Amino acid sequence: MRADDQCPFCSEREDCLHLFISCPRARNFWAYLNLDVTSISNMEQLWHENPLQEPNQNIRTAILTCVLWNIWKSRNAKIFRSQDESNSQISARCRDDLLLWSHRSKTAF
Ligand SMILES: [Zn+2]
Repeated sequence: MRADDQCPFCSEREDCLHLFISCPRARNFWAYLNLDVTSISNMEQLWHENPLQEPNQNIRTAILTCVLWNIWKSRNAKIFRSQDESNSQISARCRDDLLLWSHRSKTAF
């Protein structure tokens, strides 16, 4: 049985930075997206470092939010359904979410 604050992927203590950035599972997904987050040491830094090299803040924010949202969903799939989602599954869900969001907000994209 896992402790409430134990990461479901690596058994380290799970906090916000671990879940989204420093967990080996999250790092593997960021690398799959070809985004370097190895220098990120807190969540605010993620928004300032601009790993996407995207100058449009609305696009940058939408993509980063989407990636974080889908890392969160992957974590929940592991905890609640014992599912190990592949990087391609998570990436496909990101693509679908961004497509949906782009229809919602024509000014953001
Ligand atoms: Zn972990």
